[in-house]
Amino acid sequence: MNDRTTIRRDPVIESEVVEVDVLVVGGGPAGLTAAYTLKRHAQNLRVLLIDSRDRIGTPVRCAELTHKNLFEVIGLEPRDGWIRWILEKSEGLIVIDRARVEAGLARHLESMGVCVEEGSSLIGIQEHDGAGRMTLVESDTGVKRVWARLVIAADGVSSSTASLAGISSPLALDQLCSCLAYRIEGAWLEEPANVMFDFRPELEGHYFWIIPSGIDEASVGVGVPPHLGEGLQNRLDAIIRECPLIEGGRVTSTVVGSYPAVRAARRVHADGLIVVGGAARLVDALSGEGIRQAVHSGRLAAELALERGPDNLGEEDLAEFAERLSPIYEHLDEEIEKFHSLRDRFGRSAAKRLMVSDRVIAKLNQECTGCTGCVALCPTQAIRVIPRGIEVREDQCIGCGHCVWECGVRGMEIHDPRSSIDYSGGTRQT
Ligand SMILES: Cc1cc2nc3c(=O)[nH]c(=O)nc-3n(C[C@H](O)[C@H](O)[C@H](O)COP(=O)(O)OP(=O)(O)OC[C@H]3O[C@@H](n4cnc5c(N)ncnc54)[C@H](O)[C@@H]3O)c2cc1C
Repeated sequence: MNDRTTIRRDPVIESEVVEVDVLVVGGGPAGLTAAYTLKRHAQNLRVLLIDSRDRIGTPVRCAELTHKNLFEVIGLEPRDGWIRWILEKSEGLIVIDRARVEAGLARHLESMGVCVEEGSSLIGIQEHDGAGRMTLVESDTGVKRVWARLVIAADGVSSSTASLAGISSPLALDQLCSCLAYRIEGAWLEEPANVMFDFRPELEGHYFWIIPSGIDEASVGVGVPPHLGEGLQNRLDAIIRECPLIEGGRVTSTVVGSYPAVRAARRVHADGLIVVGGAARLVDALSGEGIRQAVHSGRLAAELALERGPDNLGEEDLAEFAERLSPIYEHLDEEIEKFHSLRDRFGRSAAKRLMVSDRVIAKLNQECTGCTGCVALCPTQAIRVIPRGIEVREDQCIGCGHCVWECGVRGMEIHDPRSSIDYSGGTRQT
């Protein structure tokens, strides 16, 4: 903790409590923008931003395609290297370098006086006490208590903050889309100035994408409903082999992830709590786009909090937040209509088979140290803490691979009797 936060002693439990004005949970685009907006307009505000990742910015689980006005929405000029590529023929679209943008923003926030704590996770949140909320934050050094007038839940699609506070519930299996993408370098691209989304019948109306990020490099991937995750790597490899728009090159990294394919959450506030970005499911169900909505909602949340002032952050005071999100809702509602009509057209016959038996699931192995790092990453809350460590609830696991990918000791593996998905963690090199 630094001098920009206050430490007090709680007389009831006789332990120290860190006191801040705003606790931002999550250092993705939504949380970083919220903290930046707050500090930009109120230098004396005590803002603490925590993120479970050891380093904000990595790993990147994104194809990094967004709109060129992104930095205007954040309110900051992009630094050198933040924009990878301008897609001249896809009007208004750019590819950013998320690792650099997020790490750069985090350091900028520190220079403005925000306390940024990497490797720290929110693990508990209490009822509002009339003025703010007590939370539990865990890091390598142990668990500490943080009291904040306002908590901004910016912890992404698997948000535990919103569900711990009782204002959202876990997503069901058919409410997620799974993605697998390669970054390919040194390739020949038919159209390096344009992005390509190909909606395909064999992907049940979902898509294959090529998002160039340079003259000879691109993110190339597929987004599918989770029941099609079986053999996804083979499927992607086959599509790339047959695709006349890209040739050659080498895979330098692989991204696995999922995003919500549901209507955005309408319940986005409570006493002393606002939910933003992926945590509020502000993601385009059709394209998977969510960076812009994350940034926009983070900014709107901070602006509302600043307007209300420190003593007016109760449920009623914050009720206007959902109204302010209405332009975002309108756009996302249109997209989800299109998404549903595609699903209806292509049917979902395979879903039942995979959801009932022998589907891909995560399994613990003997390397697991019980560190619980994977718990917050699980988009369906299938991993839970038990007295001797953790367990995977197989009926809730969708085999998205997040936990496998993130586990530092390779204590989790994908169990898939029939496919050759390589989820072995780390960066796939060929
Ligand atoms: C494979 C894939 C490709 C995508 N490609 C694109 C794309 O090209 N363009 C686009 O616009 N969108 C894309 N998206 C969607 C986009 O990545 C998200 O919508 C966006 O990142 C949401 O931003 P956020 O800040 O709300 O959450 P996130 O970026 O998910 O950030 C949440 C942060 O919270 C942290 N966190 C989680 N739990 C806790 C906790 N308990 N305590 C502390 N910290 C916590 C996490 O470590 C993370 O850093 C893609 C998504 C996937 C899965």
